[in-house]
Amino acid sequence: MSNKPQNFKGMRDHLPAAMILRQHILNTLVGVFERHGFEPLQTPIIEYARTLEGKIGDEEKLIYHFETAGGDKVALRYDQTVPLARVVAQYQGQLVFPWRRYAIGQSYRGERQQRGRYREFWQADVDIVGSASPIADAEIIAVLTEALRALGFSGFTTQLNHRQVLAGVARASGLDEASAGGVYRAIDKLDKIGADGVREELLKSGVAAEAAGRILDMVLLQGPPSDVLEELSDRLAGDERAEAALENLRAILAYLPELGVPPETYAVSPQLARGLSYYTGVVFESVLASPPMGSLLGGGRYDELVGAFAGRPIPTVGLAFGIERLHDVMEELGMGPARRTVAEVFVTLFDRERALASLQLASELRAAGLKVETALDANDKLGKQFKYADQRGIGFALVLGPDEIARGEVVVKNLRSGEQRAVARADVVAALRTSE
Ligand code: AMP
Repeated sequence: MSNKPQNFKGMRDHLPAAMILRQHILNTLVGVFERHGFEPLQTPIIEYARTLEGKIGDEEKLIYHFETAGGDKVALRYDQTVPLARVVAQYQGQLVFPWRRYAIGQSYRGERQQRGRYREFWQADVDIVGSASPIADAEIIAVLTEALRALGFSGFTTQLNHRQVLAGVARASGLDEASAGGVYRAIDKLDKIGADGVREELLKSGVAAEAAGRILDMVLLQGPPSDVLEELSDRLAGDERAEAALENLRAILAYLPELGVPPETYAVSPQLARGLSYYTGVVFESVLASPPMGSLLGGGRYDELVGAFAGRPIPTVGLAFGIERLHDVMEELGMGPARRTVAEVFVTLFDRERALASLQLASELRAAGLKVETALDANDKLGKQFKYADQRGIGFALVLGPDEIARGEVVVKNLRSGEQRAVARADVVAALRTSE
């Protein structure tokens, strides 16, 4: 095996330029979350394996398991939802419900690496725990819409569906609950394998040709949300659970305009299945028209998972933003801050005698709130110091030589254009702020 330094596949290092974009993404999300009153929560990356087992369905095979030297069976968390359910059960006496929490951190899945799919990835979750109100579902949709817009996305669609609409589609085709899993899995592949591919999968899983046709007709319905809901109501008439689900979707959608969600940002998509088995109500995902990147986020209502830990029903709705996907797409589209480095200004050291004056200038600028890096070796020629600052991607360099000190001035050099001018020392901060 080669000794070449290498990170584990499916996991990434993020060098400073990438981190600047990632921190911009996280700061933007936190701003939106906190404007809606969500509070931060942090949980460990490792959980007892039993906490995670039996909660997420087929995907459980992707969980990383291991045994500690002490013999504890543990696992890397797969998402931040199951840990949230544990926390709610463990601390329910200390929490005030409904409780809005956000959590930002890594999740781990033993996936085959492909575009937008990693083995270590960050998620930013928001959940409202302890409310069954459709206003809670609508607010989560408002939060995701606001967040994507705040990041600068415009061409995204949030696809909405309801678990009991999908179940109703399966029932309407004469299938019992036990066969429904195969139907969901087939429908979930619609984007990848097309309608004919789904038909084939349905037939293979034992669905009759006529029922497969009915399923496809329903999941391919498109158009304005109210039309799709009406069409589904006609076709699922008499199925009480499906009718209640459609009513629930209508109630959620009715709150969206007042919560600032523009109609062109969402659609009712009866084909949306979402993999995780804990969902019980509305489910949603946001996708971009281009570039292709799968879902930027996903979520829904899961009224039973938290209760399974807490021993009493605690209805919950929430979502997870996929930070890797937001990052990759924003990088590809050139979105986010243009900065490649943190420092806004570089203070040079003119010579050994004048070095202290420059360090003092740097302190003044930091006290005024600027991000400042200084040279470290006063023996270096100014040209070398400018070159270093430019290579680091810093926009401006300051020079404080004997003439400037005598005149109470500082030279401000724009490292992109090469232009430089003397500015009164008292005006340096303002000069830098206006030329950014
Ligand atoms: P989930 O936890 O499966 O509901 O996924 C929520 C969001 O997390 C998805 O919409 C993706 O943006 C992101 N995500 C899920 N799995 C991965 C992965 N393996 N790599 C990168 N992002 C992922």
